[in-house]
Amino acid sequence: MPVCKSCQEEWTWGETMKKSFTLAAGITCPHCEKKQYLTASSRKKSSLSIFLIPFVMLISLLFDNSSPLFLFFLIGTGALVMSVQPFIMELSNEEEPLW
Ligand SMILES: [Zn+2]
Repeated sequence: MPVCKSCQEEWTWGETMKKSFTLAAGITCPHCEKKQYLTASSRKKSSLSIFLIPFVMLISLLFDNSSPLFLFFLIGTGALVMSVQPFIMELSNEEEPLW
């Protein structure tokens, strides 16, 4: 789970999920209210994991995708990718450029 670089408190899975859905650039720490940013490396890892969703979609097109199982599988992959985000997240006090 991500640890706040300002107060060193670990965020819970639920807090992280709730915070990561906000569209603001910074994420406010639930403990010290300081703004935290995702590190460049964790943003890269996160976008790589999200890339799994279209990849699974593509694979399912190669097979018989009329089966409701594929839809189930797709939703399952999406939910899995979303739920691992807090494990990938690393926080920083400053916004890092991606490159
Ligand atoms: Zn904090």
